[in-house]
Parts: sequence; structure tokens; C-alpha cells
Amino acid sequence: MSDSDTTMDAGGGLRTPIVAVLGHVDHGKTSLLDKVRGSAVTSGEAGAITQHIGATAVPLETISDIAGRLVDPDDFDLPGLLFIDTPGHHSFSTLRSRGGALADIAVLVVDVNDGFQPQTLEAIDILKRTQTPFIVAANKVDTTPGWNPQPDTPIQQSLEAQSDRAEQRLNQNLYEIIGELSDNGFSADMYWRVQNFRGNIGVVPVSAETGEGVPDLLAVLMGLSQRYMKEDMSIDTTGPGSGTVLEVKEERGFGTTLDVVLYDGTIRTDDTVVVGAKNDPIVTDVRALLQPQPLAEIRTEKRFEKVDEVSAAAGVKIAAPDLDDALAGAPVRVVRNQSVEAVIEEVEAELAEIEVDTAENGVVVKADTLGSLEAIADALDEAEIPIVRAEVGDVAPRDIAVASTADETKHEVILAFNVDVLPDARREASDRNIRLFEDDVIYQLIDEYEAFVDEMEREQQ
Ligand code: GDP
Repeated sequence: MSDSDTTMDAGGGLRTPIVAVLGHVDHGKTSLLDKVRGSAVTSGEAGAITQHIGATAVPLETISDIAGRLVDPDDFDLPGLLFIDTPGHHSFSTLRSRGGALADIAVLVVDVNDGFQPQTLEAIDILKRTQTPFIVAANKVDTTPGWNPQPDTPIQQSLEAQSDRAEQRLNQNLYEIIGELSDNGFSADMYWRVQNFRGNIGVVPVSAETGEGVPDLLAVLMGLSQRYMKEDMSIDTTGPGSGTVLEVKEERGFGTTLDVVLYDGTIRTDDTVVVGAKNDPIVTDVRALLQPQPLAEIRTEKRFEKVDEVSAAAGVKIAAPDLDDALAGAPVRVVRNQSVEAVIEEVEAELAEIEVDTAENGVVVKADTLGSLEAIADALDEAEIPIVRAEVGDVAPRDIAVASTADETKHEVILAFNVDVLPDARREASDRNIRLFEDDVIYQLIDEYEAFVDEMEREQQ
């Protein structure tokens, strides 16, 4: 037996792939996930599907039930898929982990009638930067005029069964999406024509409303993850846990808690953990690990259930003392078989990876999470806009002070992404004539700033 076989035995095989669902607001991310969950319930495996914090685990048997003959469980070594819920419209940018993306694979949801929109492009940038393999769900095919639903039919046949007019219209929209992907440097095609999904993007027409195409989508996701996990992943699911903070949240009775996606190893109650924070990493002991109650939708006093141990990949809420300064997007590491100092160093190194190159003169950037800060810094770098300060957090008076020392008017600017502007800071900004740009779409934020610079330059001429 080779070394790697031994590791495999100790680790209990491949871990569940983490799937992120990304896309522009209203293109159907939530509906698509709801459809997958709902289909799992109607397939009679409601008990098998588990709600995690920030994630939904769908076991292989359930996927196979939904996908029918498209997924034969005997062909797969994967336990299932863990879909990360990305509530709100920005949290996908927090989905990072050691070495890149938290998600192993992603589904980019595009409204087939609406095509590529700012957040679609933002998602594409993140997927590119983190080299995350992905597929495109061309959603809302049922809204095509003249659409004739074909439930329980593979989507390719559904398309063929449409009237000429509906088929033509849909094909035109689908080819526009393929064209957009190609403009963004990807070779893409309808999924049944894509042989090797590495570097080639498969487009799967779906309807989160009727469920058409959902079996196809799951089958393609399974095929893609199986290939990807086999090639690139040898994960020991019994080691000390590593995870990423999705959200830092107050929870009545528990104080400040962390919603975490664990992507490696295990975490147990009483474990010591190191968490990336605003200043020095936090070292604390896990007081409780929480999961939603099985019937969380029924209003109960007790919303959470305590668990003793969680293994990757999974979402979990961590209750522990001293979590106030923890950062969304930051790493969480369990200390086991290693000194606390060594783990602190690892967490610091991981946080340093996203430190932004700053110039002597430039704009001030404030963002809600490390991931979004990183994404904005990247976009600004691409647009050749220098940054003087980039930080996570609300816009405070000291940011105004930094912005006002810029010696070029066009840099006396603060770009605020998804954060609040403290009242004092807003007053000072107005007194000192500092421009504040606030948005929750990166592209728009940068566009607004560029429009302002253009206007300034026109005025100067
Ligand atoms: P999200 O913001 O990306 O999570 O989008 P939602 O899932 O909230 O969907 C936005 C709207 O589009 C909702 O009103 C959904 O009911 C609707 N919607 C989503 N998917 C479909 C679909 O496949 N067909 C139709 N007809 N409507 C859809």
C-alpha cells in the first residue's frame, strides 16, 4: 500500500466538495438552491438533507434520486455536495480560504433573459482570480415566450421539444451568454458539447421555477467535482479543522458568534481556535458548536442544536468568548498537534496574503470583509487607480484625515463598499470637501469614481 493510500484510509476518503452559488442579484441563486432542497424533500429523503449554518449538505443518494439516471451513485466516491448559501448579494466575495477559493467549484447563475450584469462580471473576476472551476446555470428558461414545460426530461431534449420560436429565442440568449464568457477569456459551450470541463465552461439551461435542467445541473456538478477532487484534493478529514468565517453575528444567549464553513479537518467543543481579527488574531476556546434545529422553520424558542464535533466540509456556528473583533472572510484554525504560536503565525500569514499594495498617494478604501477588500483592490489595480489605505470597517474620522492629505483632488476620495459612514466622518468629509462614494457593487463603485475623475479633468481643461 502506498503512502497516499494510508492517508486516504486514515482520512476516510474524499470530503464533500464545497459548491458556491454566485450571480447577479435576482438572477435566481436562492430559488435554485430552494429547488434543490425542495426536490430533495419530495424525493422522500427529507431527513437526509441537512441544513448547516451558511450551507446545505445534499448527500449522494439524494442527488442521485433527483437526477435519476443522470447520476449513478456507483460512479462516484463523493459523499455528496455542500452548497454554500450566499445570502445577501455580496457575501460571495468573502468566500476565500488558504490558497484561494473556499469553494471547490461554483455555479454562476445568469438570468437567461437578462444576460451578464455587474455582479456577474464581479463573480467572474473572483472565479478567475481564485481559479475556481465553474459552470453556468442559464436560469429562468421557463420565461422564454412560448415555453412548453417538459418536466422529467433532460434539458437538451426539452429544448428540442420547444416550438421553433421559443427554441430560437432561447438559443439566441444562450449564445449571448456563451459569447460573454468568451469575451471574458473562457471557452464555453452548451454543457452536452463540453467534453472536458477543465478550462471549458459548460452552460446548463435551467429553471428554478419548474425544476427543468436541475437534474442536469447536479449531474454536471458531480462530474466536475469528482474529476476535480480526484486530481487535486487529498484531504484528511480527521485532522485539526480549518475554516473560513462567513459572518460575525450576535446571537441571543451566546454573545458574538461566528458562522464558519469548515473546509478541512474537524472541530470539537472545547477545542482551542485561532481566528483572524481586526488586530492580532484571537485565541479562544470553543464553548459550543451549533447547528440549526432540524425543523428550524418552525418557530421554536431554541433555534440551535448543540453538536460535539463537526467534520469537513460543513457549515457551523461557533460560540466562544472574545470574538468581537473577528473578521468575515478570515481564517479559523483549530489548535491540535501544534503549538498555539505556530497556528497564530499561520493565521497571520494567511491574512497577510491579502494585504494590499498601497501608494503614497491614492484613494482610501473601506470594505465590509477581507474578501471584498481584496476584490476591490484587484479591480482598482486593474483600473490603475492607486490606493493609500485599504481596510475592513466603517468609514471613521481618521479615514477622512488620511483622504484629506492627498495632494491631488481626485484622490481626496473614500470608496466605501457595503459599510456604514460614521456620522462624525460624514460631517468631516463634507467640511473638508472629501468625496465619499458608497455602493455595494464593486463595478459601480469604481465606475462612479471614474466618472468623477473624468468630470474633474473636463472641468480643468
Ligand atoms: P437571487 O437574488 O439571485 O437569490 O434571486 P432569487 O432566487 O431571489 O430570484 C429572484 C426572482 O426571480 C424571484 O422572484 C424568483 O421567484 C424569480 N425566479 C428565480 N428563478 C426563476 C425561474 O427559473 N423562473 C422564473 N419564472 N422565475 C424565477
